[in-house]
Amino acid sequence: MIKEKFFVVATPIGNLADITFRAVDTLKQVDFIICEDTRVTKILLDHYKISKPFIVVNAHNESKAIDKIIDKINSGESCALVTDAGTPCISDPGVRLVNKIIESGIEAVGIPGANAAILALSICGLPTDSFIFEGFIPQKKGRQKKLQQLALEERTIVLYESMYRIKKLLEELNEYMPERQIVAARELTKKFEETWRGTASEILQDFDKKITKGEFVVIIAPKDWKVKDPPAKSAGQAPHKDIAG
Ligand code: SAM
Repeated sequence: MIKEKFFVVATPIGNLADITFRAVDTLKQVDFIICEDTRVTKILLDHYKISKPFIVVNAHNESKAIDKIIDKINSGESCALVTDAGTPCISDPGVRLVNKIIESGIEAVGIPGANAAILALSICGLPTDSFIFEGFIPQKKGRQKKLQQLALEERTIVLYESMYRIKKLLEELNEYMPERQIVAARELTKKFEETWRGTASEILQDFDKKITKGEFVVIIAPKDWKVKDPPAKSAGQAPHKDIAG
């Protein structure tokens, strides 16, 4: 039996095999699961033959749902917070819930696992001793200012971007920091995982030859960082066989 009552559990970012034994055990043992979208979480739970009641927390019901969750925990139930993919609270919902849970005197226990930013950093080949995570930069208001700030940044920069805006982002990076080395990692852990390396304009040239869909992590080298031994400019990989998912 688990004695802690509130777990924050990382789930896969594409490949259903990328979850720890401890995460699966926790999801099996808790009384209920807090999620973003029951359809997405159900795919994971079905894969691991887990069936649990859900509480959905979203922008519309957040305050009420948080009160209900705290009441349930105080009456002895245990629960796990998951999101659609990766680590909750990292460019994902959960921050307010975790904050309120802690405020109410309940401890939050993290179960580590997949995170797109850390995975991309581990394969980027750029300096990782110091980096700044910006997630999604503002879409409209404040975007230009953010890009100007990032152009002066002396640490490695990690951004998230969706398939709809990746080309626009690379065009802007080409305008604001044309000389920087960039790594764009798409669909990490999935069948059509692919990584591009080079300046924004070099990556864009290759993008133009393909229809580029998927979710991206974009990593930007620190200002003035130079490649000493340049890798192949575009290191697209062949689709790999999924173990699961
Ligand atoms: N909480 C997640 C995590 O731990 O990485 C991030 C969730 S955020 C809503 C989704 C964004 O993360 C995507 O738009 C993309 O930028 C990035 N992302 C998530 N999964 C990815 C993957 N498999 N490959 C590349 N980027 C991914």
